[in-house]
Amino acid sequence: MKYYSTQNSNHEVSLAEAVIKGLAPDNGLYMPGSIPLLSLGEVDNLPSMSFREIGYLVIGKLFLEDLSESQIKELVDHTLSFDAPLVEVEENVYSLELFHGPTLAFKDFGARFCSKLMSLLLTKSEQTVRVLVATSGDTGSAVANGFLGVDGVEVIILFPKGKVSQLQEKQFTTLGENIIALEVDGVFDDCQALVKQAFLDPELNKKLLLTSANSINIARWIPQCLYYFYAYSRLPKNGKKVVFSVPSGNFGNIGAGILAQRMGLPIDQFVAATNVNKVVPDYLKGEEFMAKPSIQTLSNSMDVGNPSNFPRLQALYRNDESLFRERVKGYFYDDTETVNAIQTVQPKGYTLDPHGAVGYLGLKDFMDENPGFVGVFLETAHPGKFRDVVEEALGEELELPERLAAFLEGEKDVIPMGKGYEEFKGFLEKLS
Ligand SMILES: *Cc1c(COP(=O)(O)O)cnc(C)c1O
Repeated sequence: MKYYSTQNSNHEVSLAEAVIKGLAPDNGLYMPGSIPLLSLGEVDNLPSMSFREIGYLVIGKLFLEDLSESQIKELVDHTLSFDAPLVEVEENVYSLELFHGPTLAFKDFGARFCSKLMSLLLTKSEQTVRVLVATSGDTGSAVANGFLGVDGVEVIILFPKGKVSQLQEKQFTTLGENIIALEVDGVFDDCQALVKQAFLDPELNKKLLLTSANSINIARWIPQCLYYFYAYSRLPKNGKKVVFSVPSGNFGNIGAGILAQRMGLPIDQFVAATNVNKVVPDYLKGEEFMAKPSIQTLSNSMDVGNPSNFPRLQALYRNDESLFRERVKGYFYDDTETVNAIQTVQPKGYTLDPHGAVGYLGLKDFMDENPGFVGVFLETAHPGKFRDVVEEALGEELELPERLAAFLEGEKDVIPMGKGYEEFKGFLEKLS
């Protein structure tokens, strides 16, 4: 399969190049040159398959020209080493729990797939690969833990000083080994801008083999489609239409759902739910797409003012704006509404994290306006990961899962960094 750039469909590269480069040289995002379809029979058969079997089928369709069957199995087994259960919260409202991986957020799926795929594609290369990652929280921990101890790879994580929860921070600043954390005096968008500039810097790229594990990388992005297939297959539909509500920041996760839909999964509707960083809901309402500076909120992993996967969504809808606006409905919520949702859902026996709360609210509002649906919201992180917010909302202590508590023991080790590009470049040059 060839991968093309969203900036120029004539710019085509191999899977290996798309994965190692991350971002196309023209600043576009890579997209699969063709989208394989599941047959109706294959879709009907999903409920009888395990999560991994669904993974072999879907990844097999996408990667069969590039990887052997045994490599595909290895890749899927490594990625789907934990479950993604669908839990009923209310009648016709289900939570898809994506937080059962090592760092308790959905980004574990993409990070594990990405590190495994890179190691499969890089076996012949001698040069150390530097993975640059900008994080607003969960990407850093998922990527750091996904790549920890992987030979020939060094991970450099940029995160905004003071804007990431202590628990999140501990998950990528305490690991040591091949993981370096840079504490940037700025906001997430500054971190993202530094990383983008480094990838586009010809001088730097002559000296270093740089790659990205942000959600812009197809190796992070594509595997996220798997849990949509799985959840759909397990969802009791009773003749109702199906809607997925996705709490969104960079819009990679929802984009992967749309990819699953394009591959033939009969999802009727998507809801893009955001916090007050509502560039996409505004666009979906009919305004022009306009990037804005990010605003800090309680659902901080979605504090993104310039969602990097937006061109991918456009490409998935073949740049047809009206189709895009018809299939995806946008909703946004402020911190008060987010806290209220955590409080109202708790008595139903379910604890939301602030991101899942935004997804839940979007789903409920959509379903109120559109009867006849059964809905799934993506619960993208364990509530214990945002312990301060959830405990304050509920007025009670949360029990932390063991693997989360273990991170708290580690010592934070970071390198401070300004938000100017020259300082960052100087740091990278010294690595070579
Ligand atoms: C990253 C993240 C999101 C946003 O996902 P995107 O793919 O960037 O839209 C939502 N919730 C949590 C917990 C996250 O870590």
